[in-house]
Amino acid sequence: MSLRVIIWNEHRHELKNETVRALYPQALHGAIADGLREHGDFDITIATLDEPCNGLSEERLANTDVLIWWGHTAHKEVLDDTVDRVQQRVLDGMGLVVLHSGHHSKIFRRLMGTTANLKWRESTDKERIWIVSPNHPICEGLPEYFEIEREEMYGEHFDIPDPDELVMVSWFTGGEIFRSGLCYHRGRGRIFYFRPGHETYPTYHHPVVRKVIANAVSWARPLCNGPRPVYGLGFWNKPLEPLPAE
Ligand code: ZN
Repeated sequence: MSLRVIIWNEHRHELKNETVRALYPQALHGAIADGLREHGDFDITIATLDEPCNGLSEERLANTDVLIWWGHTAHKEVLDDTVDRVQQRVLDGMGLVVLHSGHHSKIFRRLMGTTANLKWRESTDKERIWIVSPNHPICEGLPEYFEIEREEMYGEHFDIPDPDELVMVSWFTGGEIFRSGLCYHRGRGRIFYFRPGHETYPTYHHPVVRKVIANAVSWARPLCNGPRPVYGLGFWNKPLEPLPAE
């Protein structure tokens, strides 16, 4: 069965900004979906902020293997109930791939427990992304480094917990560096944060960026063969074996 992927996009810049619309006539989520289709047999659907339940009902999340998140200008409008549902589903095993300005999304901050603050500049920087874990599954088929001719700069320090695996590091023309490919485990779920993807640059048409996102979706898929722990007292109030008499 192909992996069931939701691409969640706040879908605001495309409606307001002609530059973004020209770069992404099918919206950011359309370009991200096209990139996935180049690399695998994914069952892709789209969800956006303005749909009921932000497009992420309990039932829909229950039938999703990996959620991709692109948000920027409307993080505060994401309902807290939505954040609760997504967090629970990640802890239960759904993969989450957070792109670019999603670093400040409610869900990423919730799962990290930090501000996820960083330095930034929207200018004429080139970004050079180095692979620092060449044997990681997300790096399958990638070159040792790749360049994005124009991108927004994100600079360290990035206020995040130390990642479980650091996969990529970015360098920018202005001299800054940034941890740009990060893996986390939360509960039964896996999270990948990937830095590039500012809306006024054609980043989601970049062939290597597309490959990274496809690899990340495959890596973050649920591993359904592990036990699902039963927490609390209810079940465990009855011992597995008889206890000695007091
Ligand atoms: Zn940006």
